Amino acid sequence: MRYLRTWTIAVGAMLVALPALAQPTTTDTGPSAPRQVILIIGDGMDDQQITIARNYLTGARGHLVLDTMPVRSAAQILTVEDNTSAVPVYVADSANTATSMATGAVTSRGRIATTAGSDKPIPTIVEAARAAGLRTGIVSTASVTDATPASFASHINLRLCENPSLMAEVTYRDIYLGSCKQYLKSAGGPGSIAEQLATAGLDVLLGGGSKHFAVQAEGSNKTVAELAADHGYQLLSSPEDLAAANTDQPILGLFSASTMPVRLQGENERSAEAPSPSLLNHVHRYLGEVELPAPMVCEPNPAAATVPSLKQMTEAALAHLSRDNAHGFFLMVESASIDKQAHERKPCGSIGELQQLDEALQAALAFADEHANTLVLVTADHAQAAQLIPNVSLFAAYPIPTYTPGMLARIRTPEGGYMAVNYATTNFQMEEHTGANVPLYANGEGRGRVKAYVQQPDIYAIMADYLGLDKNATD
Ligand code: MG
Ligand code: ZN
Repeated sequence: MRYLRTWTIAVGAMLVALPALAQPTTTDTGPSAPRQVILIIGDGMDDQQITIARNYLTGARGHLVLDTMPVRSAAQILTVEDNTSAVPVYVADSANTATSMATGAVTSRGRIATTAGSDKPIPTIVEAARAAGLRTGIVSTASVTDATPASFASHINLRLCENPSLMAEVTYRDIYLGSCKQYLKSAGGPGSIAEQLATAGLDVLLGGGSKHFAVQAEGSNKTVAELAADHGYQLLSSPEDLAAANTDQPILGLFSASTMPVRLQGENERSAEAPSPSLLNHVHRYLGEVELPAPMVCEPNPAAATVPSLKQMTEAALAHLSRDNAHGFFLMVESASIDKQAHERKPCGSIGELQQLDEALQAALAFADEHANTLVLVTADHAQAAQLIPNVSLFAAYPIPTYTPGMLARIRTPEGGYMAVNYATTNFQMEEHTGANVPLYANGEGRGRVKAYVQQPDIYAIMADYLGLDKNATD
């Protein structure tokens, strides 16, 4: 019905103005129409996160756009040790999981499209798509050099080697984690993630991370951003730039120094808090009382207004990639901070970023409605820490104080319920990922292509087959 309407409008336009015949064939619906894949990744978006977000955003009986997808599957995450790659690791990170989706390979944590142990580059779907003449794009609410986007268009042994100043001595919170020395240009390597992205030939690269592009490129008197401009990128830094971008030229939009600000935050910027047992309970675990954290609502984060939304970036990417394009494209869109906010025990932050993903999905589905042969996939890279637990314990009737050993946020939802979100994977300042399989959704194009259960590397094969890519072809 929708195609018919589009076609009718197109015919009407031709009758009015013949030059319309020279317009791009974006409403082609036949088998020869270009093929495109839109892969949307919610970092850490497991079923706990989806349920928590649905309860808050739509009410428990409501529906996210995600819930309307006609195909739903589960993806098992696969990770291996770096030294003995036959040994599985049951909890993944975003680098090895994005590598699985981008390349079809199983690797070890922290690796960006490189093999476990032997440290060899693995061709990515972006490289295969480019080699076949398709356009390519990456959109993320993280720094574009962060593990998920990086794994689609760069190769390095350690995800933290994001710019030329972070190659020799890689530390995180002052702990030495390793080195990417063999990837230095002076060692004959391709350089840092930012330097590789600057020359990767993507048509669209949008997100945060300008600080990584402000660093001087190795062996050059130019910054990485200037290097990108030399390679044909139009540089964008504001929502206004994005709206006014010239669509004839590749775009590199960096809208914040690092991760983009999230949409929602806890009331008075609160995160999950530890329950407060009374002194008597410290003396005897079954005596005394406990005070749980006070309930809160979620409120807008004012900083989010300074950057484009994920939906705006997705729509800009789709317009750019589809304009005058007879060959199709591959686009990866990431909502990154579902995960990052969960690490910080901030359920409101995760809820807002899941909402951003849902809106970006709506934009992708609207595009697919108007453009035949568009496969839309939505998935998560790994599960996260948050758990939806009872607000009033099942054991509350027993005369003992009952409370989580972790951190708890009690969120008052717009429909008047109290949703208790618990974090209890560590006693450290950051929560850990967890190891459950994650959801995988597809639009109607996924029917017969996406089985009810897949392993994460299968997602690469589904996309490559759909686009007709030679899986061994690269630049
Ligand atoms: Mg990520
Ligand atoms: Zn994470």
